[in-house]
Amino acid sequence: MKRRHLFLSMVLTLTLSACAQTKFTALEQQQISIQDPTLFEQYEAFTVDFGAMRDKDYSFPLPVGKAKMGTDNNVEIETTKGDAVKAMFGGVVRLSKSISSFGNVIVVRHDNGLETVYGNNAENLVKSGDHVKAGQTIAIVGGSNGRYYCDFAIMVNGSRINPETIISLESHRLRKQTLLYEKTSSWKVKISVLRGPRLEESNTAASQWWCYPLAGAKVISGYGRRGGRSHSGVDLKTKPNDEIRAAFDGEVVFSAKYAGYGNLIRILHGNGLETYYSHNSKNLVKVGDKVKAGDVIALTGRTGRATTEHLHFETRINGKAYDPSRYFDHQKHTIREKAFHKTRNGYVVKR
Ligand SMILES: [Zn+2]
Repeated sequence: MKRRHLFLSMVLTLTLSACAQTKFTALEQQQISIQDPTLFEQYEAFTVDFGAMRDKDYSFPLPVGKAKMGTDNNVEIETTKGDAVKAMFGGVVRLSKSISSFGNVIVVRHDNGLETVYGNNAENLVKSGDHVKAGQTIAIVGGSNGRYYCDFAIMVNGSRINPETIISLESHRLRKQTLLYEKTSSWKVKISVLRGPRLEESNTAASQWWCYPLAGAKVISGYGRRGGRSHSGVDLKTKPNDEIRAAFDGEVVFSAKYAGYGNLIRILHGNGLETYYSHNSKNLVKVGDKVKAGDVIALTGRTGRATTEHLHFETRINGKAYDPSRYFDHQKHTIREKAFHKTRNGYVVKR
């Protein structure tokens, strides 16, 4: 269900037309597009290697917001009143003011050549010329009547580009790829993928019938009895709001808050297992959804009884918990094929 976006950026070459000038006056556009000789002034093209960025180089503007595409290459990121709007990358504030079509708007020019636009703010917290870091709070989200959202856009050379070429609106993460931006006319940019996306590829084509639920995770607490407490799963840690993926194909049978589990997802798989994913900051699937192994189903958090952001992962058969390391190798992040029988219809768990 989530795969349709994954291939988008691999094959797509987009020619995008300008629309920013319909939103900003000429003077405002001039303020935004202060000449930067490293961009299209000297070269007809530049590349950005998003795959090389570190976690601290990037932030989704509203990490717990729900993002959906608007009609004009903009993204509405809906959240709750008083939430903080964060700069996507480091850069310099080119504009911070109130204009009629946006309300309070901020434009940040980033060192990588992109510009990001954050509109509909209740309050701007930075001013033109300020240097900002990725993840820095730059505004308070605006709205009314219980609906609060940031009107967000990404621009290159003054043109809005499709933000899904850079980020996944579902997982909020950067696509790990290198993009080439070429100037085709004064307000047009052509975008092509030079390399990637590697993360998504490795989690779809290669894995097929299974997927390790949290790529790159370390075990911070194993299954079983320790210190008088019985642990019904394994605790896997990477970083906050990381992508949690379905371990196998299956159907979501629970997606809600549940006591100490916090935000919990349970998926029933055809191979005889049921898997639990708990403490999520956000569940991205609902009861009845059919998922494929590798689909992003939630983001890591610390809801429920948790002292740090992590994934509490369980494997159950008929409701009884078994050690997940029977099925997954947590060091190599691979499946233990010996725990399964191959049948005509796929793999079933050995009893
Ligand atoms: Zn746990």
